[in-house]
Amino acid sequence: QERSALESATRQRLPRSGCQCLSVKKEKVMTENFKLVSVAQAPRTELHDQLGLTGCEVSINSLPAGAAVPFVHAHKQNEELYGVLSGSGEIWIDGEVHAIKAGDWFRVSPAGKRAIRAAENEGITFICMQTKAGSLENYTMTDGVMCEEKAPWLK
Ligand code: ZN
Repeated sequence: QERSALESATRQRLPRSGCQCLSVKKEKVMTENFKLVSVAQAPRTELHDQLGLTGCEVSINSLPAGAAVPFVHAHKQNEELYGVLSGSGEIWIDGEVHAIKAGDWFRVSPAGKRAIRAAENEGITFICMQTKAGSLENYTMTDGVMCEEKAPWLK
């Protein structure tokens, strides 16, 4: 029930004419091991379904100057990594307000109660990656596997 309330609240801030599925122009490439989509400017785009992601949800969010996500939310089990791609604004987190701007990246624990708004004089575009807290087991050197194949630009 909490989830559907969050979803409907999220939907309310989308323009009436806009469906988030329209924000992906066209699927360009799809193979067994690769899927690529192009994302157009939109209030919110969710990539989980469009790319068949199995370990995270990624959303790209844009708020015009003076606009705010119209709710505070927390999560049941997902931590979130946010990255501000352009513009600036503020995050309210557990009762404190912090300025955020392009180039900033921040992590929010599942229990963190959060809300984001754009600055009064400029919009903000940010990416949000949800992953299950505590699920990361290996990364970079312990998960990466070197392969014998050579890309054409590798001699
Ligand atoms: Zn969230």
